[in-house]
Amino acid sequence: MPAAFFLSAVVPCYNEASGLPELYRRLKAACAGVGQPYEIILINDGSKDATWAKIQELSANDDTVVGINLSRNHGHQLALSAGLSLCRGEFILIIDADLQDPPELLGDMLKKMEEGADVVYGQRISRKGETWFKKATAAAFYRLLNYLSDIDIPRDTGDFRLMRRNALEALLSMPEQSRFIRGMVTWLGFRQVPLPYHRDERFAGETHYPFRKMLKLAIDAVTSFSIRPLRMATYFGLIMGTLTVLYAVYLFISWALGGYVVAGWLSLMLVVLFVGSAQFVLMGVLGEYLGRIYIESKRRPLFLIQEVIGRSTAK
Ligand code: UDP
Ligand code: MG
Repeated sequence: MPAAFFLSAVVPCYNEASGLPELYRRLKAACAGVGQPYEIILINDGSKDATWAKIQELSANDDTVVGINLSRNHGHQLALSAGLSLCRGEFILIIDADLQDPPELLGDMLKKMEEGADVVYGQRISRKGETWFKKATAAAFYRLLNYLSDIDIPRDTGDFRLMRRNALEALLSMPEQSRFIRGMVTWLGFRQVPLPYHRDERFAGETHYPFRKMLKLAIDAVTSFSIRPLRMATYFGLIMGTLTVLYAVYLFISWALGGYVVAGWLSLMLVVLFVGSAQFVLMGVLGEYLGRIYIESKRRPLFLIQEVIGRSTAK
């Protein structure tokens, strides 16, 4: 599908009524500054405040504003997915509604695009107004995630990024249910470039990512990008089996050297340990198959092509 606009800005909004007018003002100025046709997509993710009324008002007064009203609160990542599936721009800006990510960076992002990027992602040099707990858990989370998963998800990034349509189409071709979008975008490949920036405080309201939602996002992220936890049983079983063998050797030697061993205890102990480790290994085998079924069930594209050259178009 050819893009209808040069630019789409996609903004998921949950209980953001108080900050929306300011978001609109700054985002509009940034988009208009590019001097090309654009649309601003505001997604109301089942807000309990006047967010949708505000969006309706903005859309009535400005035909660059598209409002999407979700049937209920689906969560940030799905609200974003809804906006991405409906946007029609050649370049797509993903930005939060709370102005923590400055819309004014759009120009710099577009410049990186001109230099040949497909995705320009914001990388936080600093984050204002966030508790040490949030920063510490975020840091630990990215470390764990990169250790567990096969792709290297850049640290200190959120969903604030500019994407070219080819990358967006590729993202939309991933039909999986639990969506950790920044990880999925990394998975895509293409030419991805960071843009360092300072993250501001929330303009209004407060975070909608309490610890509970962060934990859910973290679990989604780990389970979407890694089947390594399923392998834990195998490793555990193999370690336990090895220790059992070493222990058996030690017991036999001390028995042979005339050490005191209670009758029946030795054989009982070894049977228990061997059966235990065998069970762990077998659980790991089940895990391997389960992991493969899981990967298949996501139905991700097998590969994504950046470009093909040298193929003659003549029949
Ligand atoms: N958001 C959403 N649905 C939710 C929670 C959040 O659409 O269930 C939006 C929210 O309005 C904001 C963005 O997702 O535009 C990021 O949320 P927030 O700023 O609360 O997260 P934080 O920046 O604290 O991680
Ligand atoms: Mg925020």
